Amino acid sequence: TKWVYGFGGGSADGDASMKNLLGGKGANLAEMSSLGLPVPPGFTITTEACVHYYSNGQTYPDGLQAQVAEGLKTVERVVGKTFGDASNPLLVSVRSGARASMPGMMDTVLNLGLNDATVEGLAKLSGDRRFAFDSYRRFITMYSSVVLGMSHDDFEEVLDDHKDRLGVTVDTDLKAADWEKVVVEYKAVVERELGRPFPQDPHEQLWGAVSAVFASWMNDRAKFYRRMHDIPESWGTAVNVQSMVFGNMGETSATGVAFTRNPSTGEARLYGEFLINAQGEDVVAGIRTPQSLTRAGREEMGETAPSMEEAMPEVFAQFVDVVGKLETHYRDMQDIEFTVEQGRLWMLQTRNGKRTAKSALKIAVDLAAEGVISQEEAISRVEPSALDQLLHPTLDPNATRNVVAAGLPASPGAATGKVCFDADEAERLNQLGDAVILVREETSPEDIHGMHAARGIVTARGGMTSHAAVVARGMGRPCVSGAGEIHIDEKAQTFTARGRVFKAGEVITIDGSRGEVLDGAVAMIEPELTGDFQTLMAWADKVRRLRVRANAETPLDAKTARGFGAEGIGLCRTEHMFFDEERISAVREMILADDEQGRRAALAKIEPFQKSDFVELFTIMAGLPVTVRLLDPPLHEFIPHSDEDLDALAASSGLDAAKLKKRARELQETNPMLGHRGCRLGVAYPEIYEMQVRAVLEAAIAVKQASGTAPIPEIMHPLVALGLEMKFLRELTDRTAKAVFEAAGDSVEYLVGTMIELPRAALRAGDLAEHAEFFSFGTNDLTQTTFGISRDDSGRFLQAYMDKGIFETDPFVRLDQEGVGDLIRIAAERGGAVRPDIKMGICGEHGGDPASIAFCEQVGLAYVSCSPYRVPIARLAAAQAAL
Ligand code: PEP
Ligand code: MG
Repeated sequence: TKWVYGFGGGSADGDASMKNLLGGKGANLAEMSSLGLPVPPGFTITTEACVHYYSNGQTYPDGLQAQVAEGLKTVERVVGKTFGDASNPLLVSVRSGARASMPGMMDTVLNLGLNDATVEGLAKLSGDRRFAFDSYRRFITMYSSVVLGMSHDDFEEVLDDHKDRLGVTVDTDLKAADWEKVVVEYKAVVERELGRPFPQDPHEQLWGAVSAVFASWMNDRAKFYRRMHDIPESWGTAVNVQSMVFGNMGETSATGVAFTRNPSTGEARLYGEFLINAQGEDVVAGIRTPQSLTRAGREEMGETAPSMEEAMPEVFAQFVDVVGKLETHYRDMQDIEFTVEQGRLWMLQTRNGKRTAKSALKIAVDLAAEGVISQEEAISRVEPSALDQLLHPTLDPNATRNVVAAGLPASPGAATGKVCFDADEAERLNQLGDAVILVREETSPEDIHGMHAARGIVTARGGMTSHAAVVARGMGRPCVSGAGEIHIDEKAQTFTARGRVFKAGEVITIDGSRGEVLDGAVAMIEPELTGDFQTLMAWADKVRRLRVRANAETPLDAKTARGFGAEGIGLCRTEHMFFDEERISAVREMILADDEQGRRAALAKIEPFQKSDFVELFTIMAGLPVTVRLLDPPLHEFIPHSDEDLDALAASSGLDAAKLKKRARELQETNPMLGHRGCRLGVAYPEIYEMQVRAVLEAAIAVKQASGTAPIPEIMHPLVALGLEMKFLRELTDRTAKAVFEAAGDSVEYLVGTMIELPRAALRAGDLAEHAEFFSFGTNDLTQTTFGISRDDSGRFLQAYMDKGIFETDPFVRLDQEGVGDLIRIAAERGGAVRPDIKMGICGEHGGDPASIAFCEQVGLAYVSCSPYRVPIARLAAAQAAL
């Protein structure tokens, strides 16, 4: 087996298509080499080697060692230096690189190959002793923390002591002799902590770093990141070993990160940051705040230090040429890392850049307009769930802005929450339902769970490409980075900005689009969806086959859904229409009534609400189908529990309190989700469903007469399992309709159908189709009943299943295509056999999940129905599924 693929010197063993084997970084380094771009030579150890490592008790495959030695020899030949050679040493970087990019989640070691002898060689070669020993001490720190398991703090202390003794504050004030002393002490620290000396053998160093990179595939942050982004653990990571180039060899050296277009806004202009006389990690880690690449960028940010365009115009021109080639070649916005070593440009990485939803839309639409990609490709370029970011509020421009600190607009959007300084605490507060803003000096990848739990993130240090910025953008969290005015006192749990002290728990607002931190809560406005969004959505609407409806029952939700392009309502949960106080007591009366007469009295109170609600809903959804799901109240959600509530109900209804209490006790169920709910209520008490059918159809006639457009009501019966149940409900519905139409002297078209929520309903769909004109898959209950897992209690153990890899995703979020999916396929087939024109859709939560939508497309459903904010996501996902 070939485990090692070389690149550099104008050729490569691999290419960009080999991401699965070489990881994204390795594949693109190979591709760039073959394109003749300046890439420091190196080799990639394949992801298969990593997979082998984990499936064989953490051992390397046979042949790997020999192939690595061979790879090193080739690199030595191309570079003209030798690994471990005291007079002419080759130094390498060792980096992770999985199939999908996981920025900062795994480990990297730079300057590898340095030891007491080669550092002298490096000093001679570079003519810069200070540089050589600075590199050596960086290597000791990095290697010791990544490979040897030590802490950065062990070394920071030594360095701080040194600086104190010399009376200096910044690293750049240290001279060659100072670094030499620091190195001696660093090595002593290692020996003291670990009981053995810092490894001097470069080959031992190399294998230590390789296994550390493999090990970092399984660290907690990598696992968390994979879960969040649905990246399978089985992929493994590749390892890239590459000859070092140095951005820290004086004023003609630099290192930086660039995007060929703006990753926040999508603007088609080179965008990025660099640092003169620095090593790559300095930019990404957010330790120094970098400068803009272009003059325009610098002017926009109001920076004083010269841009790369101004500081090194010749290399900059070459760079612009190279990145232009890369974008043309990859036909997408590129995220690029580069280094300039003494005036010479080197490309270290290119990949399709991560971007905000706004930027993704603009770039896709622009590239299609530029003729680089087709409209279909543009559709497939935007991650549907990322649209979520665009659908959320931004700050009201007219609101008073009490700005307490300014920083960089690292990730757009606005958020309000309580100040929190710790990632674990942010996660804890979020679980308690608190909105928090995570405020940190700088975030490290260890904070990722806290960033996820927070509504927004503020960092005091770091640039636009710091981890905080990149990760926040990926998650769609607003972020302000590099807010240098903020001074955090972790011990006191406060931060100070512009003379004001903020305690943990105080409310602030951040504006990630402007890079500002504001005092208190600030008014927000709903986003306007115009421009690129509308353009791409229009393209998507042209290609999709699936219709998209919304689950909505309030006028507000219905209007929101229409605004997002819903083509009707796929699920109006009528029990949700009774959640306000006056109504709920009428519903409670109805449920608690102990005879038909009592029930009818309560129903008479409810009917006018129902009718006027439907009038509103039908008016908003003029001419579009509206599926009204008849009452399905799991009783425990509706019966008052406490004596106080029951007394209050007695007082408001004039019923006898003692009787009510007795009845409430009688109605208590052991398994309410499998109890007297759904159509079982309609079968036992037909007057309830009769009232609802009447309200629906009378409202429809009223709207038809008032507007001239007839609504299209679809009356849906929940939780049906049997053909005879459906027959009974169909007859009830038609009989009631007939009476309504006769009384009104007018009529409307309507459909009668059922939800498929029980395995028996799916298996015997043919029986149901005899009487049902449509099926709507209620995949919430269908998942619950197929697995026998309670919707309400699954949270207690699902995580354990996901941690153990038994469930990859929560089946209530992503449809279980095998089991529940089989039932859907069976129902579609058996229902269709009996009634060929039967209309089928899905209305469980899965209707808004892109992967589940792809399944619905496969099965040939007519529509998906999802919550209003998911409608645009569903439209795009449906289009992608159709391509
Ligand atoms: C379902 O069960 O999938 C459904 C849509 O109904 P509800 O969530 O109201 O039970
Ligand atoms: Mg249901």
